[in-house]
Amino acid sequence: MAIVRKLALGALLASGAMLAMPASAKTVVLSHFTLIDGTGRAPVRDAALIIENKRITWVGPAVRLKAPKGAKIRNLAGKFVMPGLIDSHVHLGLVDGITQDLKYYTRENVERQLRLYAAYGVTSVQVLGTDKDEIHDIVRDIRADPAGRARVWTAGRGVVFKGSYGGVPGLDAQVATPAEAKAMVDREAAKGADFIKLWVDDEFGSLPDRMPPAISTAVIDEAHKLSKKAIAHVFYLDNARELTREGIDGFAHEVRDAPMDTQLLSDMKAKGVWQIAATLSREASFTYDLLPFVDDPFFSRGVTPAVIDQLKDPTRRKRLASGPNFPKYPGVLNLAMANFAREAKAGIPYGMGTDSGPTARFPGYFAHWELELMVKAGVTPLQALTAATGRNAQLMHATNVGTLQAGKAADLLVLDKDPTRDIRNTRTIDMVFVAGERVPTIWQTCTGRPADACGAAGR
Ligand SMILES: [Zn+2]
Repeated sequence: MAIVRKLALGALLASGAMLAMPASAKTVVLSHFTLIDGTGRAPVRDAALIIENKRITWVGPAVRLKAPKGAKIRNLAGKFVMPGLIDSHVHLGLVDGITQDLKYYTRENVERQLRLYAAYGVTSVQVLGTDKDEIHDIVRDIRADPAGRARVWTAGRGVVFKGSYGGVPGLDAQVATPAEAKAMVDREAAKGADFIKLWVDDEFGSLPDRMPPAISTAVIDEAHKLSKKAIAHVFYLDNARELTREGIDGFAHEVRDAPMDTQLLSDMKAKGVWQIAATLSREASFTYDLLPFVDDPFFSRGVTPAVIDQLKDPTRRKRLASGPNFPKYPGVLNLAMANFAREAKAGIPYGMGTDSGPTARFPGYFAHWELELMVKAGVTPLQALTAATGRNAQLMHATNVGTLQAGKAADLLVLDKDPTRDIRNTRTIDMVFVAGERVPTIWQTCTGRPADACGAAGR
C-alpha cells in the first residue's frame, strides 16, 4: 500500500503537478534510511523524516510515516542519514590556494569557502578569532538564509597579548594591559561576537611572552559578564591548569607539551571545561607527507591543479622539512592524540575541530581527516560523529543544528556507507542538505570553480 502511494506521488511530481502546488514544493520526505541522529544514540534502521520550510518537522520509523500531500519523497533504502558536520575550529578568508594573505579576506572568498565546507558536508563552522568585521554582515545574511553556505559562528577578533603568539599578521589589535583586554572584549561582543577567543602560547618559546594570568583573567571575567564563553588557544600544560583555575570555558587545542594528569582532568571536569577541538589534523599536517593526499579525489576535487603542483613541489617540501620546529611535530601529534584519549576516558566533553583555513590546512577535507584521527586516538566512530554534530552544537550554543530532531534546521548528509562501521565512510557523500535545500557535494562540484578546474575525476 505504501509503495503504491509513493509511486502515485512520484508520477504526480514527474508530471509537473508540483508547479501547481507551490506551498508544498519545499516539503521533502526521506525514508527507509538508517538514522544517525547526532545525539549519540545507536543508529536506527528504516527511519524516515519530513522537511518542511527548511526545518525537520518529524523523525521516526518509516512504518509510521505520514507523508504530507505533495511532498517530494526520496526512498533512501541502503543509505545513511546524519546531521551536517560542524567544525568548531576554523579560520576563514585567509588564503587563495595555499598562499596566505589577509588581502584574500573578501566576502567573495569567505563565501566560496563556506560553499566548499558545505560541499564536504560541513554545514556549520565556528571561526576562532581571525575574522574581519565584515563577518558580522555575512553571519546575519546566513542566519536569514544560508543559500548553500555553511552556517557561521564567530569570535570576531581574538585577544592576543602584545608580543606573544596568536592572530594573523595585519589583523591583530594586541593588548598590553587588563584594561585594554577588557575594552577589546567589550568591542568584539558589541560587534556581534558569539564568544571570545584568546591565545596563550609563545610558539615553542620563540616569542618573548605568553599572555599573563592578569590578562587572561580579565578576558574571561569580562566575557562572562557579557554572557559569552571564553575559548583559549593553549599549548602548555601549566597554562591549561591556570586557565582552568581562572574559569575558562573551553580549549581550542590539546595540551601538547606534556601528558595531562588526573588532577587537571578532574579540575576540568569539576569546572565544566570543554575540549572544544582536538585539532589532531592540524598537528598531523605539520608532520605528514602531503603526497598521498594529491591522488585522493576526495581531496583533489577541493583544490585547483595549481595547488596540487605546489604541494608536489620538492622545493616547498624541502623548505618545510628544514623548519626549526619540524622535528618536534611528531612528538606534538603523539601528545595531542594521547591527551585527547585521556580526556575522552575521563569524561571531559569534547567537540570536533580542525583549525583549517591557514595555508595548506584544507577546509572540509580536514574535518573528515580529523574524525579519522579521533578514532585512531581511541574513541568509537559513533563518539567521533556525535562530537562533530550534537556535541559541537551544544558547546557552540547552536541550538538549531547538530541533531536530526523535529524543530531543528534541515542540515543533513546522505551517505552511501555506514560511518559508524568505518569512520572513513563519512566521505561517501551522496547528498548534502543545508536548510532543507540540496547543495552540490564535493563529488558533484569543484569548489564553485568551473568544472575543468577539478584536480581529479569523481568517485
Ligand atoms: Zn586556530
